Amino acid sequence: MKHSFSPLPIQQNNDEKVVRMHLAAAYRILAHQKMDDLTYTHLSARIPGSDTYFIYPFGMLFEEVTSSNLLKVSLKGEVLEGEESQYNQTGYVIHGSIYKKRSDVNAIFHLHTVAGIAVSAMDCGLLPLSQFAFHFYNRVSYHAYDSLALENQRQGEKLAQDLGQMKALFLRNHGTLTCGSTIQEAYLYMHFLEQSCRVQCAALSGNQKITLPTHEVCEEAVQDLRDFEPDFGIRDWTALLRRLDRTDPSYRE
Ligand SMILES: [Zn+2]
Repeated sequence: MKHSFSPLPIQQNNDEKVVRMHLAAAYRILAHQKMDDLTYTHLSARIPGSDTYFIYPFGMLFEEVTSSNLLKVSLKGEVLEGEESQYNQTGYVIHGSIYKKRSDVNAIFHLHTVAGIAVSAMDCGLLPLSQFAFHFYNRVSYHAYDSLALENQRQGEKLAQDLGQMKALFLRNHGTLTCGSTIQEAYLYMHFLEQSCRVQCAALSGNQKITLPTHEVCEEAVQDLRDFEPDFGIRDWTALLRRLDRTDPSYRE
C-alpha cells in the first residue's frame, strides 16, 4: 500500500519536532549517499538561540536514526533527553564547542569520507579547480591533527577557534566539517565540499598539468554563488526529502 506524507515544513526551525525530523532525514540521506562511516561521525542541529542541541546516539548507524531516538544534549555535553548506548565525548566536544562560539550556527555536519580525508592530508589544501570548490575559495579553515580524538575541552575550543567565521573546515588527516544557520545549508555545503574533494583527487591523479582560474575570477565566482543565498539549500533539500518519503519515511518516527 502506498502512503503519502505531507512535506516537512522548511521554515519552522524553532519547532523541536520539525528540527528532529530534518536532522533524522539528514542522517538517512547521507547514509543513502554512502557518506557515513560505520557508527562514527556525527551530525547535529539546534533550535536557534537555545543552549541544547540534537545528535544521534553513538553506536547507531546513520540509517537507524529516527526523529525520536535523537539525543538532546546541553552545550556542556550532558544528555538531557534520550538514551545513549555509549558515551560520545568526541561528538559532544566538537559540536558543543562550535555552538558555544557561533550563535549563527544551528547545524553541524562532521564526516570521514575518503575524498575529504585525502584532501585534508594534502599540504596544498582545497584547490579552486572546480565550480564546487569556488564556494570555499578563501572561505575554508584547517585544523591540525591533534591526537586520536577531540577528547577534551581545550581541543574543542581550538577547533572552534580554527573554524573562525567559516562554514567549512578540514580536520587534517581526519575528515571534514560544515555548518550552517539551517540543516539544509550545512547539508549543501557538505555536498559541495565532498564534490570538490572528489574532483580534486581525480584531477590530481591524472598526471596532467592542472589549469586554475585567476584569483579575480575565483573571487567573482564566489560573489556570484553568494547570490543564491539566503534560500541556500532549500530547493535541493526539499527534493531530497521527497525522495526519502518515497523510499523510506521511517526517519519521521
Ligand atoms: Zn571524526
